[in-house]
Amino acid sequence: MNGQTLLYFYNLFNENTPIEKIAHPDLDNCGVELWLKRDDLIHPEVSGNKWRKLKYYVEKAQGRAGLVTFGGAYSNHIAATASVGKLMGINTIGIIRGDELHPKSNKTLKKAAAEGMRLLFVSREEYRFKHQLAYHKQIKEEYGDVVIVPEGGAGYEGLIGATEIIKGHDDFDVFSVSCGTGTTLTGILLALKSHQHVLGFSALKGGFMQDEINLLINQYFLDSQIYKDYENECSILESYHFGGYAKVNQELVEFMRSFYQYTGVKLDPIYSGKMIFGLLNQLKSNKFFFGKKILAIHTGGMQGLIGVEEKLGFSIF
Ligand SMILES: *Cc1c(COP(=O)(O)O)cnc(C)c1O
Repeated sequence: MNGQTLLYFYNLFNENTPIEKIAHPDLDNCGVELWLKRDDLIHPEVSGNKWRKLKYYVEKAQGRAGLVTFGGAYSNHIAATASVGKLMGINTIGIIRGDELHPKSNKTLKKAAAEGMRLLFVSREEYRFKHQLAYHKQIKEEYGDVVIVPEGGAGYEGLIGATEIIKGHDDFDVFSVSCGTGTTLTGILLALKSHQHVLGFSALKGGFMQDEINLLINQYFLDSQIYKDYENECSILESYHFGGYAKVNQELVEFMRSFYQYTGVKLDPIYSGKMIFGLLNQLKSNKFFFGKKILAIHTGGMQGLIGVEEKLGFSIF
């Protein structure tokens, strides 16, 4: 594929996503202006931050044997990589955590397999080698000159892609985003202007998000001390995970439904739903935000809704 065809394919993705002003009763008397960046509208299959993070890996894969990446059974990143492969004619291999699984075990994996992704199910022990160079070498010996994309796109190319989310939004004071690997947040952090701040809501339990972000900054600059320069520009909130990754309760479901009623926007229950819940909660109680203009990023992930609804046994919307 030459540069021109790549440009053609890139035009399938609408990176210049709209921003919408949010009207919601929880914002009454908060003294803030809240906007939502609709990165969920980048592409119907490859939504949100997953395209942002994959973009430069895709570029690197031109003329190579394909993309190999890692994920759990319901991973939005696996789903996005499979769809990109199908759309752009790139071979994809997904190394899936759990050797008891099957390509038909859930809708995410079924769809990825149908899109041509080769799924390799590995034990949890083997999966732990995902960052090891020796393991990557073995993968390349077996599958040729492939580009290895870290789980969740959490590497250099992923960070570069994520810096582009806030391009053209210099008039905002605060950005708000959900964190899984922390790559999207770190990309935004690297791109902040001096008057700006980024707020991250962890979708995971455990309180290690700040460490993950420091590691990503360290990887990016190849300097283990530079993260200190960024510490004051970013705040991580760890108490809005609703019990842990992909855990959903009635309060969250009802919040997402009412947010949809007020705004017409569907959020996903694993990431953006929890982030917006936490953000509205903070805006009501935290004086730091008074008078600020805030841009929350809808990172997409609506395919994850299907998996959650499968487990809940009812639909959220
Ligand atoms: C994967 C994902 C995230 C987490 O992004 P990180 O860069 O891993 O922190 C947030 N929102 C949605 C919708 C996602 O699919």
